[in-house]
Amino acid sequence: MAENPQPARYRPRTDILALGEPFYDALAPAAFPEHILRFRNDRAAAEIGIVPVGSAADSLPLSDEAWLDHFARFTPLPGSIPQPLALRYHGHQFQSYNPDIGDGRGFLYAQVTDHRDRLLDLGTKGSGQTPYSRFGDGRLTLKGGAREVLATEMLEALNVPTSRSLSLTETGEELVRGDEPSPTRSAVLVRLNHSHVRIGTFQRLAYERDADAMYRLVNYVLTRLHGRTPGGAPAIELVDEVVGRVATLAARFMAAGFVHGVLNTDNINVTGESFDYGPWRFAPTWNAGFTAAYFDHQGLYAFGRQPDAMHWNVMQLAVALRTIADAPPLIEVLETFPERYAAAAAEAMLWRLGIAPRDPAADRALADAVTAALAASQMPIDHFFFEAFGGWLPEGDDWTAFESVRALLSDYRPRSDRSHPYWSDAAPCSMLISEVEQIWAAIAERDDWTPFHDKVAAIRRMGQALA
Ligand code: AMP
Ligand code: MG
Repeated sequence: MAENPQPARYRPRTDILALGEPFYDALAPAAFPEHILRFRNDRAAAEIGIVPVGSAADSLPLSDEAWLDHFARFTPLPGSIPQPLALRYHGHQFQSYNPDIGDGRGFLYAQVTDHRDRLLDLGTKGSGQTPYSRFGDGRLTLKGGAREVLATEMLEALNVPTSRSLSLTETGEELVRGDEPSPTRSAVLVRLNHSHVRIGTFQRLAYERDADAMYRLVNYVLTRLHGRTPGGAPAIELVDEVVGRVATLAARFMAAGFVHGVLNTDNINVTGESFDYGPWRFAPTWNAGFTAAYFDHQGLYAFGRQPDAMHWNVMQLAVALRTIADAPPLIEVLETFPERYAAAAAEAMLWRLGIAPRDPAADRALADAVTAALAASQMPIDHFFFEAFGGWLPEGDDWTAFESVRALLSDYRPRSDRSHPYWSDAAPCSMLISEVEQIWAAIAERDDWTPFHDKVAAIRRMGQALA
């Protein structure tokens, strides 16, 4: 993957407006006292035709000041949505239904066509209060914003379908939070996601018994997000597509050693892209009970429970679609989740191991053996994949738990060689909580952003080695 591909054309869209009023509320963004650009993702921007001043025709050249006008003051992008839209949705939060949520500190700012001809949303986090803010201030902490950038960069490099962070701006306010030292610094983030349609978007329409709007939403998702031509049973087709995508996402989380932390139905996108990063963590070792969110007392969204949590999520989508479809075919599609998850889990494991697939049964046996050995040995996950990339395991006492893996690997070929200089590093690029806290401490104590930007560069370098 080239670091600086040819910029795409700038192609604004307004597809969301076709859904109409019941899906959103138009509103004004917050006015912030300061705008200090902290992260500008020119790589992602180039894919939607937004470029630094002085480059290509057909694109939208933005100086840093113009960038802030759009991505911190939210002057509409030319030709796209004329006013920010807070999206309406409900959701199960830790499995209890909440009809009082919706975009409470973000909105849909713009839509564009990306370099792969897909509809892409530009959404915000921390852009001010909305009709759904309840008691919240509508703001994002700078630490929360920096953490979201780090999570998205790391997940993208590890081949996890994820939103991307386009822009992070510090906004000069003092925020009070119960779970961070306060007052704490504020920020506004712009994220790229191939839709912000969540399972909770469907749940709200079921709650409102609005079959008409449900049909429109199903059609919007199938045609504009999934690129399908709906047939005679659109609701079933939709669940089928979402089951496949969400099963893949769960599988990629596991191979990445990632714990999202809050897999509520309002955080699950029907495109199967992970987004909305709060208390996320990477698991140091393969420990199914490892939990990211301090408030997840039951371990509902613990590392090893993520596949089941995702299955439960798609079940809620099917329940919502009962508004316009019968139960038996919906259930039939839901029952395919475990099988599709298992296939995707093997594929994800082989990808991270840097080996080419062989046959489905053998690939699964290998993936299961790796999982069992990682759990039994408690070898650091990143260390294992760093050493094993390409399919050869080192010798030595540390590797005794991996003998069955070693035997199975002998039938596999590398999908990529180890010629990238990354593979000669002393240690893998990781993102454990201790390092996240160190990166934040440099910002909090000295306003030193060097470790943050160095880390993004190191992650992108790892991404090239893995690609
Ligand atoms: P989350 O757990 O981050 O997905 O958020 C759940 C709900 O709470 C969503 O409707 C958010 O928009 C809302 N929310 C979270 N933090 C705030 C905040 N500081 N101000 C207003 N709403 C918020
Ligand atoms: Mg959310």
